[in-house]
Amino acid sequence: MKRIAIVGGGISGLSAAFYLEKARASGVELEYTLFESGQRLGGSMYSDRVEGCLVEAGPDSFLTEKPWALTLCKELGNADQLIGSNDAQRKTYIVVNGRLVVMPDGLMFMVPTKILPTALSPLFSWSTKIRMARELLHPPRPMDADETVAELVERHFGAEVVDRLADPLLSGVYGGDAAKLSARAVLPRFVEMEEKYGSLSRAMLAAHKKMSQAAKQPARPLFTSLKDGMQQLVDAILDRLDPESIRMRSHVRRIYPEDGGWRVSVEMNGDERFDAVILATPGNVAGMLLDGVDRGLARNLLDITYSSSVTVTLGYYMDQLKKLPPGFGFLVPRSEGTRMLACTFVHNKFPHRAPEGKGILRCFLGGARDEGVLALTDDEILEEVHRELRDIVQLEARPMFARVYRWRGAMAQYESGHIARVQRIEKRVSEIPGLALAGNAYHGIGVPDCIRSGMEAANAVASVSVESLSTQQG
Ligand SMILES: Cc1cc2nc3c(=O)[nH]c(=O)nc-3n(C[C@H](O)[C@H](O)[C@H](O)COP(=O)(O)OP(=O)(O)OC[C@H]3O[C@@H](n4cnc5c(N)ncnc54)[C@H](O)[C@@H]3O)c2cc1C
Repeated sequence: MKRIAIVGGGISGLSAAFYLEKARASGVELEYTLFESGQRLGGSMYSDRVEGCLVEAGPDSFLTEKPWALTLCKELGNADQLIGSNDAQRKTYIVVNGRLVVMPDGLMFMVPTKILPTALSPLFSWSTKIRMARELLHPPRPMDADETVAELVERHFGAEVVDRLADPLLSGVYGGDAAKLSARAVLPRFVEMEEKYGSLSRAMLAAHKKMSQAAKQPARPLFTSLKDGMQQLVDAILDRLDPESIRMRSHVRRIYPEDGGWRVSVEMNGDERFDAVILATPGNVAGMLLDGVDRGLARNLLDITYSSSVTVTLGYYMDQLKKLPPGFGFLVPRSEGTRMLACTFVHNKFPHRAPEGKGILRCFLGGARDEGVLALTDDEILEEVHRELRDIVQLEARPMFARVYRWRGAMAQYESGHIARVQRIEKRVSEIPGLALAGNAYHGIGVPDCIRSGMEAANAVASVSVESLSTQQG
């Protein structure tokens, strides 16, 4: 019987456990043990109920176009629990000089594809608009060396688009800094488009045309979530796992190879032998655990940096939010000098998350440029948030409830050179028998990519293609 250890009980480790359980239930001879240092499973995925409102402490949804989360929900029998974002209300604002300016129609991620709305938008100065028009003539360019997102976007559209779009959009996804994040790792489609078409606007238009011709069915929502929140995914996985195979409050201190297998050393709990190990921790933790196994590998893992974030959820009565405009929320460029990076109007994005007559705002702080926010008390954070909401959306009212969640070192930063670093890591890991890595440090930070990483790690250590096995109750 092959014994497999999984270190880390976030969505990556839980997905690995689910797919190993699936293999076991299909007759593959294996058993697994999941070690989680905390008192709760799910890592940064956690939902709460406050005053009838659904509060997401970490991820609130996932991108519909990436299939792995949807597939997992279906395999778990949760297809009827999936909900889409209310895209009829999908309007996003950017704060410019303290006021909300709506993102113009036709802006795809940060690339303009419609002339008139872009030309009329107060979001950009005339010099940027002229630059956007000239971008249509941008010649194709092979990207030999990695460059940052800021460099790529500035080359095409100028510095204002970096400040008002690229940076705030990436702060929202990675808690990251456009001047450090790798274009190849974070915007691979843009790099391919530039190589093929030159102009990103022309490439986006061509891709959009192709998609609308191919898609006969109505457009799918941009984001998908679960009726009772992302926690439902964690709970559904746990329902499928053998409770005996889960060890809570088990902090893995070290792993080291021994007699063709691995010894896993758990703080205050001794050592245990396994045939294979999946490290589903942040990359820098994997680096520390592997330091005694392979220095070079550990060094590359430790070089993956992380940023921290804070989410603040505020519940209001709807009549307190009368001045709030329609839409999904707003993003704040760094040049505005606020602490808040973004704010989601949750009751518009996922209306059923707030009961009739109530509304929810979810604010994001922190990121690569503001680790300092973690040092503030909850009251200090709430004061800053109230002050900034008052300035930006004239919201004077105090909420009926407030919740602050801190996520220290939760967001991997795919900085310049990331792809080459991950290739070095994966090459070395493939040479070490019985070792696999999963998590948000390598091929995508979003929930679907984490689920895929867990599935692929399960494939690697079980030596079977777990996704092709039929799903059975364990
Ligand atoms: C605030 C926030 C909002 C987000 N929003 C979205 C979103 O809307 N959509 C989206 O797709 N993605 C979103 N993300 C990203 C996504 O949620 C994360 O990338 C993903 O959940 C990470 O999962 P993970 O299992 O790889 O890591 P984690 O969730 O960090 O889990 C790692 C686990 O390993 C455990 N661990 C660490 N060291 C040890 C050890 N030595 N021994 C034992 N256990 C250990 C930790 O306690 C933790 O439970 C968001 C992230 C954050 C923080």
